[in-house]
Amino acid sequence: MGAEVQELRFLLVPLMSQSHLLPFTDMAKRLAEHGVSVTVVMTRLNASRYKYVLDHARTSGLDIRFLTLPFPCKEVGLPEDCENIDSLPSSDLVTAFFDASSMLQGPLEKHIEAMEDKPSCIVTDICFPWTTDVALKFGLPRIVFHTISCFTLLCSHSITRSKVMERVKRDDEPFVVPGLPDKVEFTKAQLPQMMKDGPDDLEDLLDKFKFAELSADGVLVNSFEELEKNYVKGYQEVVKKLWCIGPLSLSPVVDSAKLVRGNKSSIDQNQYRVWLDSKDPNSVLYVCFGSLCHVSAPQLVELAAGLEASGCCFMWVIRKGDSTQELEEWLLKSGFEERTAGRGYIIREWAPQVMILSHQAVGGFLTHCGWNSTLEAVSAAVPMITWPMFAEQFYNEKLVVEVLQIGVSLGVQRPVEWVEEDKADAMVSREAVRHAIGRLMDEGEEGAERRRKAKELGEAARRAVEIDGSSYNNVTLMIHNIRQTLNHKRSKIRLTRNY
Ligand code: UDP
Repeated sequence: MGAEVQELRFLLVPLMSQSHLLPFTDMAKRLAEHGVSVTVVMTRLNASRYKYVLDHARTSGLDIRFLTLPFPCKEVGLPEDCENIDSLPSSDLVTAFFDASSMLQGPLEKHIEAMEDKPSCIVTDICFPWTTDVALKFGLPRIVFHTISCFTLLCSHSITRSKVMERVKRDDEPFVVPGLPDKVEFTKAQLPQMMKDGPDDLEDLLDKFKFAELSADGVLVNSFEELEKNYVKGYQEVVKKLWCIGPLSLSPVVDSAKLVRGNKSSIDQNQYRVWLDSKDPNSVLYVCFGSLCHVSAPQLVELAAGLEASGCCFMWVIRKGDSTQELEEWLLKSGFEERTAGRGYIIREWAPQVMILSHQAVGGFLTHCGWNSTLEAVSAAVPMITWPMFAEQFYNEKLVVEVLQIGVSLGVQRPVEWVEEDKADAMVSREAVRHAIGRLMDEGEEGAERRRKAKELGEAARRAVEIDGSSYNNVTLMIHNIRQTLNHKRSKIRLTRNY
């Protein structure tokens, strides 16, 4: 297979955010393992954060390189060095961040012009409709990559196309998403901001995303067919070609690079491993809210109280953004860490999540339901407590709790703001946390059934990425398809010349 695809060169253009860069760089490895030469467009700071990908490629003989472009922070009014969504100080700057990203078009085109060996194909983030023009300019096939599930894609598509929201009067009124394989209900309040009545420029942007997707030569999704078969089929009917190639975090090759994903881990690997090794199988709850959520200190205090009251062992990741002085003071004053010593482990900053989830001591994951985290838990056969916060996380909760039945919901009713105010009535209570932990870690029939389903899906995930698994074969099919598209384009050019 290697010889057949050797001269293919893929150019990957990710959104500079952890939840996009991680699957994009995992995809780079997967493509390179299939013999494709891969260039990932980066900015200076992200390139240094993701240097481990290159180190790994070098030691594994994979043909991966970065094309580093300057990020125009100053030009759009972003603070200096704000090259990743996780370093934005406020949600008001998201639009500026997208403006800066679209300004990469000119420098990228210049680079392609100067390249002796032009790329054979662009794999672009759905958030970058401007890559359509780049692909057109150089006559390249263009593939759109989604870092969300087919369940989410089909729900959003059905909600938009059916205009069902026009009939919904109140924010808290549940409505059924029409035309789905299962009965799925949401309230308007739970939908991503983009799906609600947003400002016109946001609607324009959504239209551009949709056009860029429908006009692409194909669509890749970080998911696997066995996980959401009916939704994959449903979305396949919407777009021209769709290939599920995940879970991308689950490499069939033993991969030491997993120890450092996205950021340098803030703890010594051995330290956390020794702690987890000392615990019984399936006895630890891992708690982490991804790379972007800002949770208020009072809410985190409530979570801490719930963790303590549950009596369960836990490993809790507190992000820098969350680790406010207020929370640290409370942790210190209240004696929380002393009282939970031995059964509680706090990681301040960045944790090696994929490695933690795959440890046999971890039996549950309290998650904000980001798609990467959800898929990583599925891959590790770990059932979840779902605490969606924003974006498409409420969709992921539905998939996990109701469709796959491998989760317990905390019953959150509305998304949180970027920087959450103290709204006592909207907080998840310590009692709700304690109760959900009790249900998830339960040794009885309900818990056992959930763990059985999670185990089945974890095994299916592993099989999907192995040789001849569905995702492995989809990578091969997609590469074959690009080759055919290129041959077709070349023969058209030859015909035009002869004519
Ligand atoms: N992650 C990690 N360590 C952390 C926090 C997050 O490795 O301490 C990784 C996690 O494994 C996942 C990604 O960051 O791959 C977060 O993506 P997700 O889609 O779950 O959520 P988002 O960050 O977009 O909210």
